[in-house]
Amino acid sequence: MKVRILEQEAEVLADLGNFEGAFHAYKTFHTAYEELLSAQREAAARSRQTLFETDKAREEAARYREEARRDPLTGLRNRLYVEEHLNQLLEKADSIGVALIDLDHFKSINDTFSHQVGDEVLRVVARVLQACVSEAGGPPSFAARLGGEELLLVMADAARGVREVAERARVQIEAQDWSGLTPGRVVTFSAGTAVAGPGDTRASLLSRADARLYEAKSAGRNRVRGH
Ligand code: GH3
Ligand code: MG
Ligand code: MG
Repeated sequence: MKVRILEQEAEVLADLGNFEGAFHAYKTFHTAYEELLSAQREAAARSRQTLFETDKAREEAARYREEARRDPLTGLRNRLYVEEHLNQLLEKADSIGVALIDLDHFKSINDTFSHQVGDEVLRVVARVLQACVSEAGGPPSFAARLGGEELLLVMADAARGVREVAERARVQIEAQDWSGLTPGRVVTFSAGTAVAGPGDTRASLLSRADARLYEAKSAGRNRVRGH
């Protein structure tokens, strides 16, 4: 408004033949106009910066959220992810199957070799499990590390056979070349599988798988029990 008034003042003075006055008024107008432009440019830059920072904050929040739901050692999903997603999947998907996996005599692998070797064994096992899940269709199916040497496969389409996927993983782990990492020792796991029925919750499904895992251990380890 002020800038427009200054401009009109210069025009009026020019119309009246007061060219000196018009010239001074025009100079004042010009300075005010430049200031206005620069203030507008600054405001636009500030608002671009704010948008950029909001975007960045949103991206960072999403990244932290994702990281908090992964196991740092193996890169698999973690227990928090399982807690958040399994009930949800049970409500949405048609048939959910789980395989609860526990490495056999893992304590003695740590004791015989080292904790670092034990960690590397976990990474190798995780890689095989992830590959088996991906081969069987990938998301929303997933592999997770629940903690320690306890892992979980969640197959969102149990018709594809969670038991078969677990068995394939078991055979692949057993067939790995372990001579470099655990010379003289073959790493194996035991697993219990369960397929969700009506009314099953995360807890009831996992507890059935756990009972079958226990059977697999009692029957001599390195085997998959369940449906
Ligand atoms: P079982 O066949 O009956 O399952 O025997 P196990 O030795 O595997 O079972 P146990 O529960 O006695 O031992 C589990 C071991 O797993 C003990 C612990 O030192 C080891 N462990 C747990 N978490 C980690 C980890 O993050 N890294 C390594 N290297 N070892 C781990
Ligand atoms: Mg265990
Ligand atoms: Mg074990």
